[in-house]
Amino acid sequence: MTHIITSLCVRDGACIEVCPVECIIPGKPADEWPWMYIDPDTCIDCGACIPECPFEAIFPEDEVPGDYSKAGARVSAPRDPNFASRATEEHEVESEKGKGQEHIMLKQTLVLAEGETIDLKADIPPNYDFFKGGPGYGAKS
Ligand code: SF4
Repeated sequence: MTHIITSLCVRDGACIEVCPVECIIPGKPADEWPWMYIDPDTCIDCGACIPECPFEAIFPEDEVPGDYSKAGARVSAPRDPNFASRATEEHEVESEKGKGQEHIMLKQTLVLAEGETIDLKADIPPNYDFFKGGPGYGAKS
């Protein structure tokens, strides 16, 4: 198992600071890889990153909700097809607070309305894809 960062991630970056095995990598370029990503082969499932995320975007893989619902939650580049086509709102963030902070424009976001339910399980594959065929640790430099 591993831990998974979902589309609730808006690149706060606090998770990076606490990971004891330094396996959380900010996606770059942000247009293509808008979240932080966890290397599934290195994650030791310690859970330290979960309480650090102010947006509650991180879950153990087997606890990623298929029916997440929270009015006002912002999602970025969701993979749930019911929401992917609706994600057109730009959202500027200060990414990786405290270390090489930079302003990033997330181009495909939306805010969940009361009663809407999104499948965050659809966000699991990108965490693997980022390290298998994607930039992986190369995005650090
Ligand atoms: Fe790092 Fe622990 Fe989070 Fe895995 S669960 S990404 S090892 S902080």
